[in-house]
Amino acid sequence: MKKYDVVVIGGGPSGLMASIAAAQQGATVALLDKGDKLGRKLGISGGGRCNVTNAKEIDELITYIPGGGRFLHSAFALFSNRDIIAFFEGLGIALKEEDNGRMFPVSDKAKTVVDALIGKAKSLGVALLVHHPVQEVIYKEGRTYGVKLISGEIVRADAVVVATGGKSVPHTGSTGDGYPWAEAAGHTITELYPTETPIVSKEPFIANRELQGLSLRNVKLSLLDPKGKTVVAHQGDMIFTHFGLSGPIALRCSGFIRGVKKKHNVSQVTMSIDLFPEQKPGALENHLRQLAAAEPKKALKNVFKGTIPERLLPLLFKRANLPEDITYEHLPKTPWQDWIQALKNFTLQVTGTRSFEEAFVTGGGVHLKEIDPKTMGSKLMPGLYFCGEILDVHGYTGGYNITAAFTTGYTAGHHAGKRE
Ligand SMILES: Cc1cc2nc3c(=O)[nH]c(=O)nc-3n(C[C@H](O)[C@H](O)[C@H](O)COP(=O)(O)OP(=O)(O)OC[C@H]3O[C@@H](n4cnc5c(N)ncnc54)[C@H](O)[C@@H]3O)c2cc1C
Repeated sequence: MKKYDVVVIGGGPSGLMASIAAAQQGATVALLDKGDKLGRKLGISGGGRCNVTNAKEIDELITYIPGGGRFLHSAFALFSNRDIIAFFEGLGIALKEEDNGRMFPVSDKAKTVVDALIGKAKSLGVALLVHHPVQEVIYKEGRTYGVKLISGEIVRADAVVVATGGKSVPHTGSTGDGYPWAEAAGHTITELYPTETPIVSKEPFIANRELQGLSLRNVKLSLLDPKGKTVVAHQGDMIFTHFGLSGPIALRCSGFIRGVKKKHNVSQVTMSIDLFPEQKPGALENHLRQLAAAEPKKALKNVFKGTIPERLLPLLFKRANLPEDITYEHLPKTPWQDWIQALKNFTLQVTGTRSFEEAFVTGGGVHLKEIDPKTMGSKLMPGLYFCGEILDVHGYTGGYNITAAFTTGYTAGHHAGKRE
């Protein structure tokens, strides 16, 4: 029977970093992954360029991790986003900062990052074992004993780091295998749900694909509760698809839909698009009035073409109860309020989100109350550690999940490696 000080299960960003941190403490380490290569999901992240971390200050960065961000304070104290940057630069991987603090390798290739992690782990003597699917974590006499592979082989280790990821995009190997192992140790798994995933709507204008492919730039998308109160709102870009909404701000709102539906026991919820978030209603009205008044005989739909997305105009006119070919000189005196309302509060009903197959991230996971935030160790089972997406931690896309995976991975590996 093989024996290591630390066995890490899962070769994603959290597991790779955990194995490195454990080996840096002088531990003998094996990293077991069921796939044929390591870092598969990392390799497709950030559009294949690997959004390796985010350069924001920690206090701000944490606000971009709506699921459990504050739990990460201690882990960041040990290994922050600055440390992630220094870690890769120390390995000769030059990084560059793009919009909103997103950090990428200068090579624009995720492979650079994956290879650097693998190279570092190898140089520290970590046994990197692919094609090693783990069946279960073994607990004996109230503590962690090792792991059993599907082949039946048992690998002994006094510390086991579970880094098997969530359930999203399962073809990358993240199929939720680690949750039952956590439950077997007495842990609670909070409800799992797809997040950072496109939003589904059954509105007729979605079903008839009237707006499919229409991108909206710098708009504000809000999710409302049944009383009309804003639950979450994000400003940026989005796109209409054949099933609903996608694009950065739709993904960011997606994780909150399930909660609102559940809390209010409703099958659909309202979202609102403000097409002109930078302009107050009065200023917008003045602006549009001026445009229209300058060409009083021209149909408004033609006047507004360059200002308002053309494909939205028929729907907007319908919502403002105006004929599409109306001109400024025939415009009744009062319709501006409806018109401005249609532009600043374009509502639609949404029923939910797309599935785990398409979700960038898994919401829910191992309950954070049962994990020591300083070590990522289980409070219930000595020798058991968790890191990465298996934890009940999820962030927006933009490098926040990978950052959480690296920081929790480093923390888990560091403490597992110290054999504390
Ligand atoms: C398309 C895509 C793009 C993304 N882009 C971004 C982005 O831009 N920014 C961002 O912050 N996040 C992004 N993410 C999310 C981010 O990639 C994940 O949060 C991160 O990879 C999670 O790391 P992890 O180590 O916890 O798990 P994973 O990366 O999921 O790795 C888990 C590993 O465990 C292995 N494993 C599972 N079960 C077993 C078993 N039984 N035995 C052995 N091994 C096992 C798997 O094979 C896998 O290699 C993206 C995700 C996707 C799918």
